[in-house]
Amino acid sequence: MLFLKSGNVCAFRDCGRSLIEPGAEGDADAIIGEMAHIVADSRQGPRGDEPLDESERNKHANLILVCPEHHTIIDKQPRTYSVAVLRQMKADHESRIQAALAKPAVEPKPELIKERIQSTLLPVTHLPQAVFAAPCGFTQNEEDEVKKRILYPQRKSENEPFELAPFILRDGKLFAFHDLRERGNPFSAVIDNNKVEKQRATEIWGDAEDKRRYITLLNRSLYKYTARLGVRYDPEHRRFYFPVEEKGKERSVVYRPPNMARSERLVAWEPKRKSTGEGKGFWWHLAARLRFEQMSDDQWCLSIRPERRLTTDSETPMPSHRIGRRVTSFKAKMYNDLYFKEVVFWRDYLSQGQPRFVLSFGNQLAVIDVQMVAFDVEWVGIPGDESAFKNEVYDEDLFTLSERDEAIAGEQLDWDEAEEDAELIEEEFVEY
Ligand SMILES: [Zn+2]
Repeated sequence: MLFLKSGNVCAFRDCGRSLIEPGAEGDADAIIGEMAHIVADSRQGPRGDEPLDESERNKHANLILVCPEHHTIIDKQPRTYSVAVLRQMKADHESRIQAALAKPAVEPKPELIKERIQSTLLPVTHLPQAVFAAPCGFTQNEEDEVKKRILYPQRKSENEPFELAPFILRDGKLFAFHDLRERGNPFSAVIDNNKVEKQRATEIWGDAEDKRRYITLLNRSLYKYTARLGVRYDPEHRRFYFPVEEKGKERSVVYRPPNMARSERLVAWEPKRKSTGEGKGFWWHLAARLRFEQMSDDQWCLSIRPERRLTTDSETPMPSHRIGRRVTSFKAKMYNDLYFKEVVFWRDYLSQGQPRFVLSFGNQLAVIDVQMVAFDVEWVGIPGDESAFKNEVYDEDLFTLSERDEAIAGEQLDWDEAEEDAELIEEEFVEY
């Protein structure tokens, strides 16, 4: 038992000597390990006067396996190598041997869970295929002058989306999604429509500066689109927010969550103290950053980032030195659940309860689906994050489908592009 437990190594602290001496020149290997008594066999031997029954003295529990040198030392210095010291040495050695040879403990594999990760991105399923540029007499600083002269066409029916006319002035040119060659385009009054250049989207996306301009046009189209929904753009903070309609009066809006009845929610309000019902002296306004972003060669998204605007009296922006703590503590609470609820509110409000919304630039369109981009992953998950958010799927009905189909089919730049677009529509249609 002692030999097995000692692992062929002297048990004396830090000795480490092997207890089998290899033989050479025809001699066999020799065992040099010696069984030293912790309490001596006889009362007169080293540590022999320690109380231990005679019958226990030759058992392995009272023996320590050492090399000859250390056997000599411990028996000649019984006061240094007392019973307690030797018992500890034996226990340490035997457990060290055991631990060194034991099978390594296998860490339990983390349990993976399958989860659907929601993003705050809305897929853009259709984008303008070209940007037009025409000479324009107004400079970069005269945007307001151009805005005054934009002519919006009358809508033929109520279902038809309002036309948006985003533009950029640069280097003596006006850039727009509208086909500036057409007579009666909204910019007719400010451009020379005989010298129109047309650039295809696929070329534009390959050039950093052209792409920036394209994204700016898309983002600007949201100013007008959201303005019709009573949402204002704050250029200083680059975000959209709900202003009040009347100073000091709370504002709520009606919106339609997917597959549910119409809902109403406050979008600008003065929070009240729970105890007294007294106003807290500042106003919250729902706000969001809305931006078009290219995710890959052919995938574009509209990202929604909920924020809050703070005012002192429903109109005057809160001075920035007073904002810090409030927004920080609010953002901390915005984590996940609340954050997502606000994202969902924005998308439902922007789409007016429809499965998608359309930004119309005359004969070109951007179509944004409201089904947020989601990813399936298998991972360890986030402990404690068991929120059961449901990315509601909108019920398509024949009306919304045919409406979309018509809208896209009606969008034709040139006859030579018609065929290409028809294929695209068919591809997209299959997915539904
Ligand atoms: Zn030794």
